[in-house]
Amino acid sequence: MITITFPDGASREYAEGVTGAAIAESISKSLAKKAVAMTVDGTLCDLADPVERDATVRIVTRTDAEALDLIRHDTAHVLAEAVQALWPGTQVTIGPVIKDGFFYDFQRDPPFTTDDLPKIEEKMREIIARNAPFTKEVWPREKARKVFEEMGETFKVELVDAIPEGEDVRIYRQGEWFDLCRGPHMVSTGHVGDAFRLTKVAGSYWRGDSSKPVLTRIYGTAWPDRKALDAYVTMLEEAERRDHRKLGREMDLFHFQEEAPGAVFWHSKGWRLFSRLIDYMRRRQDAAGYEEINTPELLDLALWEKSGHAEKFGENMYLSEIKDDRTYAIKPMNCPGHVQVFKNGLKSYRDLPHKVAEFGKVHRYEPSGALHGLMRVRAFTQDDAHIFVTEDQIAEECLKVNDLILSIYSDFGFDDVAIKFSDRPEKRVGSDEVWDRAEEALRSVLERTGRPWTLNSGEGAFYGPKLEYVLKDAIGRDWQCGTLQVDFNMPGRLGAFYIGADGEKHVPVMLHRALFGSLERFLAILVENTAGHLPLWLSPLPVVVATIVSEVDDYAREVARRLSQAGLVVETDLRNEKINYKVREHSAAKVPVILVVGAREKEEGTVSVRRLGSRDQRTVALETIVAELVEEATPPDIRRERARRARAGRPPEHRIDVVEVFEGFVVNDAAEGLSTNVFDSREEAVETARRILLERGGGVLSISTLAGVTERMVVEPAEAAE
Ligand SMILES: [Zn+2]
Ligand SMILES: [Zn+2]
Repeated sequence: MITITFPDGASREYAEGVTGAAIAESISKSLAKKAVAMTVDGTLCDLADPVERDATVRIVTRTDAEALDLIRHDTAHVLAEAVQALWPGTQVTIGPVIKDGFFYDFQRDPPFTTDDLPKIEEKMREIIARNAPFTKEVWPREKARKVFEEMGETFKVELVDAIPEGEDVRIYRQGEWFDLCRGPHMVSTGHVGDAFRLTKVAGSYWRGDSSKPVLTRIYGTAWPDRKALDAYVTMLEEAERRDHRKLGREMDLFHFQEEAPGAVFWHSKGWRLFSRLIDYMRRRQDAAGYEEINTPELLDLALWEKSGHAEKFGENMYLSEIKDDRTYAIKPMNCPGHVQVFKNGLKSYRDLPHKVAEFGKVHRYEPSGALHGLMRVRAFTQDDAHIFVTEDQIAEECLKVNDLILSIYSDFGFDDVAIKFSDRPEKRVGSDEVWDRAEEALRSVLERTGRPWTLNSGEGAFYGPKLEYVLKDAIGRDWQCGTLQVDFNMPGRLGAFYIGADGEKHVPVMLHRALFGSLERFLAILVENTAGHLPLWLSPLPVVVATIVSEVDDYAREVARRLSQAGLVVETDLRNEKINYKVREHSAAKVPVILVVGAREKEEGTVSVRRLGSRDQRTVALETIVAELVEEATPPDIRRERARRARAGRPPEHRIDVVEVFEGFVVNDAAEGLSTNVFDSREEAVETARRILLERGGGVLSISTLAGVTERMVVEPAEAAE
C-alpha cells in the first residue's frame, strides 16, 4: 500500500500503482467526471499514470490554471490530425504550447494559407466531437524510428534520432492518429472544447535554421471557455489596430530595411519623438543627481574578457574586423565602460554615491526570426545608469531609484506596475551577510511602494539580487521594462575601489539601473498604449494649420507663425485639396490638433479646432488656442516644477537661448524642453525669445552665433509695460 496525501492535508491508503482516475473516482463521482490530469508531488501527469510511491496528489480539472497548457497542447494534436486528414502526405514536425496558444509546423507544398484555416477548424471540431481518449504508449526507440520511416515522416525520424540511445519513446494516440510526444495530455479530445481558434499562418524553418527545409506554421489559441476566447480575440484585434509598425508607417516615424536588420532608420518625426523622450529623461536624471557620460562603442575584447561578458554573452557580441592587431567588440552593455569612468581619478567615500548615466547605444545579436519592429532589435539605446555605493548606502539608493522609476512611468500614463523580486541563486559571489543586507534593502523598497510584487526565488544573478518592473498597458498586456540590480562582483573584477573613512581601499557595490531598458522598445509600447494618440508634449507634430480656400493662405501662415513663436512645432497645409481630405490625412498621421481656417476665421481672427479622435469642431480666438496648446504641451515634470516654485514663492529663473544654425535661428529653452522652428531673421528669433521669457516672468536671454560669439542680456518683467 502507498499513502496519498491531498492538498487539504488529508491522506489515504491505496494499492501501489493506483491511477489518478481511480483516485479521483474514490473521492467523488463528480470529480472523476471533471478530472483531466493530476499533479504528483507537483509534477503534472496523465490521469491514467500509475502512482508507485507515497506522494502528494492533486486532481486537476479543466478549469484549473495548470489545465490551460494542456488544453492548448491537446488542441495542437487535434490540429495536426485534422491537417493530415484533409491533406494526406503533409508531414508533421513539432507543435509546442506558446504564450496564449500553440503552433504546429507542417511541411506541405504548396504551403497553407489563411484561406485553409476555416476548413481545418471544421475538421478539428469533428475530431473533438468524436472524443477519442488520449492514450500513452511507450515504444522502444528502434520501433518508433521504423514506424515513422515507413510513414514517410522524415522529421519525426530525426526527432527520434535525437533521443538518446536506450531511452524509450512515448507515443500519444487519439483514435487512429498518433504523435511522438513527451506529454502529458488530458483524458480525451472532447476536453479541448469549443473555445479555440486558428489565428494565422507563417513561414518557418525546420529547427529555426534557414539552411533547413521551409515549413508552414499554423498558429492557434485555445481557452477554457468562449468568454475567455472572445476577450482574447478582442485584445488581439485591438493589438493589431495599435501595432506600432503599422502606426509607425502612418505617422512616418521610422522604417527598417534589409541592409541593416534590426536597426532603426528614424525619420524626422520619429527622431523628434525619440529626442523628446531623451530630453525628458535627461531632465529627470539631472534633477536626481546623475552625471551624464558617454563611453566608446568599440572596446578592446580583452576588457570584455576581464568583465566576464565575452564568456557569458559572447555569442551575442559583434566583433570588429580591421587591419589592426587588436580585436574590438561593439558594446552590448555599458557597465564595463562606466566602471572605467569611475576608476579614472581616485575616489573617496565622500564621493559616494556616485551616479553615472548614459543613453548608450548597444548592439546585441538576435536571430532574424526573433526581430519584431522596435520591440526586438539588434541595435538599441539603453537609458542606462550605474550607481557606485558603499554597502551602507544600498538601501537608500535603491529606494530613490524605485521612486524615480515609478514617477517616470506615471508621467507616461503607466500606473499599473507590478514588481518581480529575484533573490539569491545557488551559485553566487559575495558573503551571505552582504546578500542578507541587499535583499533586505530590496524588500524594504517593495514594502514601501505598496505595489503588487512576486518573488522569483533563486532567480537573482550570481552577482546580486534584482527587481524588475512590469507595466500593464491599456489592453492588458504586460511589458517588462525597468530593472534595478545590486552587483557585488563587477567593480572588484574590474579593479574599482574607493578610499574609505578608515584610509583603506574598499570595493564599491554597483547598482545597475534602467528605467525603460530599451528606448526604442519603450517608444513602441508607448505608441501601442496610446494607439498613436500621443500627448501634446511628446507628439512630434502637435499642430497642423489647414486652409479651406487659398484666399486665406496668408492668415494660415500668420497662425502658424504665432504658434511657432509660442514654442510649438507646427506645419501648414495650404494644398488645393478639400478640407475633409486634409483632415482625414492628418488624422491618419495622428496629428493631435488640426486648426482649420477659412474666410470666416480670417475675418474674425479665430481658428476652428479639430481634435484627434473627436468629431467636434469649435471655433476659438487665436490667442485662446495658443495659450491652451502651450499649457497642454508642457511636459509633466516641468508643470510640477513650476507648481513647486509657485508654492515656494520663488520667481522662475529662466534662461532662453537663441542659437544660430545654418538655416537661420532657433529658440531653445532647455529647462522647459522647448525648441522652436527655424526663424529666418535674428530679430524675429530674439523677439520670440524675449516674449517667451516675459511670459515666464523674465530671465536671461543668450544669443550665440555660428562664429561662436555669445551675447547675454537680462530681460526684466518691467519691460512688459513698454
Ligand atoms: Zn503532445
Ligand atoms: Zn549595468
